[in-house]
Amino acid sequence: MNLPAIKGGTPVRDTKLFYGHQCIDENDVKAVSEVLVSDYLTCGPKVSELERKIAAYCGCKYAVAVSNGTAALHCACIAAGLKPGDEVITTPLTFAASANCVLYVGATPVFADVNPETYNIDPESIKAHITDKTKAVIAVDFTGQCVENEKIRAICDEYNLIFIEDAAHAIGSSYKGKKVGSLADMTCFSFHPVKTITSGEGGAITTNNEEFHKKLVLAHTHGITHDEDLMEDAPHEGPWYYEQISLGYNYRLTDIQSALLLSQLEKLELFKKKRQEIVKKYNDAFSQIPEIIVQKEIPESDTCRHLYIIRLNLDKLKCTRREFFDAMSAENIQCQVHYVPTYLFPYYRHLGYKEGLCPNAEEIYKGILSIPLYPTLSEKDTDDVIEAVKKIVDYYRFMPS
Ligand SMILES: *Cc1c(COP(=O)(O)O)cnc(C)c1O
Repeated sequence: MNLPAIKGGTPVRDTKLFYGHQCIDENDVKAVSEVLVSDYLTCGPKVSELERKIAAYCGCKYAVAVSNGTAALHCACIAAGLKPGDEVITTPLTFAASANCVLYVGATPVFADVNPETYNIDPESIKAHITDKTKAVIAVDFTGQCVENEKIRAICDEYNLIFIEDAAHAIGSSYKGKKVGSLADMTCFSFHPVKTITSGEGGAITTNNEEFHKKLVLAHTHGITHDEDLMEDAPHEGPWYYEQISLGYNYRLTDIQSALLLSQLEKLELFKKKRQEIVKKYNDAFSQIPEIIVQKEIPESDTCRHLYIIRLNLDKLKCTRREFFDAMSAENIQCQVHYVPTYLFPYYRHLGYKEGLCPNAEEIYKGILSIPLYPTLSEKDTDDVIEAVKKIVDYYRFMPS
């Protein structure tokens, strides 16, 4: 038997593969260099060009570029008018920012459980958690697969809730032919280097709603406006005059970052195609292995996948997830786990959230591992990943006597 490297065998490869990596080429470098010697490093033409292009790409009216995905979520919560006493329903199987943004505005996150096969928030569980304090839903397109937009929209319409989509994983995905970014009341994106396209740090919010757009613009730049229509003290003294009309933050994206993202946006469709090819290859390989559970594909979603998750069927393996993770590392394949259910973190436990709130999310968490997925992986790289998984499964397969 071919022994796993952790048990003394030869690793499937010599160099380390990580679960995600940015793809930067000469055009990206050129785009950034040009801005560095231009007149504007921030608040310049690249930011507005980026906002126009994101809105056009998503097929929606407005986009506001911000400094990161977390700032995007914070601005969306501000624009939604969320305040202390309000409840917001979200998923625990996500990065902490999806719920932290609710706490930033003094409101209360309420965790709904996820679908056991797709791992996306379950609309029935959203419904079950609605109270007369519920004001909004923050749904996460987990791994890039679209949430059940029609059902969530219907629930939000029925109960008069604002639908915020955390699409940090999902730029480039579509639901029934409509691009993510055009579906919810507000959609938040992240452009961190592990995400599909990057500006180093960066984020954006898209919306079709003019009122939300005005509030998003104010929220990300100190609550300050140059727009005479919004000013209270008109006529004003001169062209230098601006007004602060609400309390906002400095969450602006720079022109340097915008230029990088504009260049990355050009390659999004190519990145999507490469990611889809790798996902298909992994799905074909892992669906043959009973010890591995493959995340269910959502037929309504044309997905630009951000993460590829394998879930270990721990009843069929003589190892823990930790042992599997360490065995993969020894093969030189560095996995990650996405995510610890948010409310299990000490900070949330101290706020009073308890284990057992979302049994599906907790059960899924126990067996998941994210394996390498990014466009520059070679055929050999993905072969190595599959070989490593097979080798480790073979070694730890539970053989009934
Ligand atoms: C990455 C991520 C965020 C936060 O984005 P940053 O740009 O890192 O602030 C929010 N939600 C989800 C689901 C994410 O994956």
